[in-house]
Amino acid sequence: MNDTTEIMSPDVRDRKTLLELKPFDKPIYVTRPYLPPIEEFAAGLQEIWDNQWLTNNGPVLQRFTSTLSRYFQTDNVCLFNNGTLALQLGLQGMGISGEVITTPFTFVATTHALYWNKIRPVFVDIEPDHYTLDPEKVEAAITPWTSAILAVHVFGYPCKVKELADIARRHNLTLIYDAAHAFGVEIDGKSIAHYGDMSMFSFHATKLYHSIEGGMLTFQDSGFKQILDYLKNFGFKSETEVVMPGTNAKMNELQALMGILVLKHLDDLIEKGRAIEAIYRERLADVPGLKFPPPLPPNVRYNYGYMPIEVNEAEFGMSRDRLYEELKKFNIYARRYFYPLVSDFACYQNVQTRDPLTVAKGVAERILCLPTYYNIDHDSIDKICDLITYHRGQFEDRL
Ligand SMILES: *Cc1c(COP(=O)(O)O)cnc(C)c1O
Repeated sequence: MNDTTEIMSPDVRDRKTLLELKPFDKPIYVTRPYLPPIEEFAAGLQEIWDNQWLTNNGPVLQRFTSTLSRYFQTDNVCLFNNGTLALQLGLQGMGISGEVITTPFTFVATTHALYWNKIRPVFVDIEPDHYTLDPEKVEAAITPWTSAILAVHVFGYPCKVKELADIARRHNLTLIYDAAHAFGVEIDGKSIAHYGDMSMFSFHATKLYHSIEGGMLTFQDSGFKQILDYLKNFGFKSETEVVMPGTNAKMNELQALMGILVLKHLDDLIEKGRAIEAIYRERLADVPGLKFPPPLPPNVRYNYGYMPIEVNEAEFGMSRDRLYEELKKFNIYARRYFYPLVSDFACYQNVQTRDPLTVAKGVAERILCLPTYYNIDHDSIDKICDLITYHRGQFEDRL
């Protein structure tokens, strides 16, 4: 380190000129699926070949189910071919109807699961720190037609579980969580699956934990499992009896195999995500116009599946969308999750809501999820940070 470097402020020292920064040779996506060692998968395939059993509650699926039961410390788990159908059938099995209070700041499948049950979504606003449903807004939106709350642990950040449970109890509402992003997340040493009446986890390849595609419900009422087993398998009770109009939402043996193998590596994936987040936070902490979600309370074990930041155009000197485009020029594919809000999609924009969704609308304009996945190297993160810092520096030079 020479003398000049030492007297410069850290953000000036970190700034590179655009000439020093070259686009990545290969695209850097927001995420990348973890793939277990191919020998592990091959050994599992051999077993499936030997069994000659590919789907319909096969031996690998049964093993996966009991593994997850142990992991989540409950027998009340049911596996599906994807998270969307898990949620849709969970709502159907519980007989949820009328209005359900939910968030517009989520992946569109949350709302689609309501739609296919002929349930009216009632969108209410989120809180500004971790983007989960604002309990006060939830309570204000309750009507005689409300039957449930469908909250989302968005980016794996836990909802205000105590407040929501209290509201649900006082108003006799079912409390359901879309925990698609929250595999591995714990509160007070207890899996997030134990909060609310039912939780849905997605095992889609884009999620931190995956089984190629897949989904799971966890629930409190042990009698519910039988209904879910009917619903995901055409309503069959026996060879000759169909007891309800079910559908086909079963997980197959190859998915179950992938799920078993990825689970073995989950702790490592979480640890790698933690290290990546630490670099982003350190490198970008003092960049004006960028906001990180505040650190989670110490009783939360987070899974580091996403790295959202907010870009404030006035302070950063560039809009979120411009930054997103500039990163693309360097082969970096950040994602604007969750923009547009679900309530702004053509198929839901006529859904009436009394809540102006002020916070959600602002966040949707500013949010940007930066790349984070187990094998992104730390130099690449540095380079992404260099580029972001460079653009802010350009603004500073113009001031
Ligand atoms: C991915 C996702 C889903 C849907 O899960 P699939 O397994 O892809 O069907 C539902 N809700 C949220 C919040 C998601 O991110």
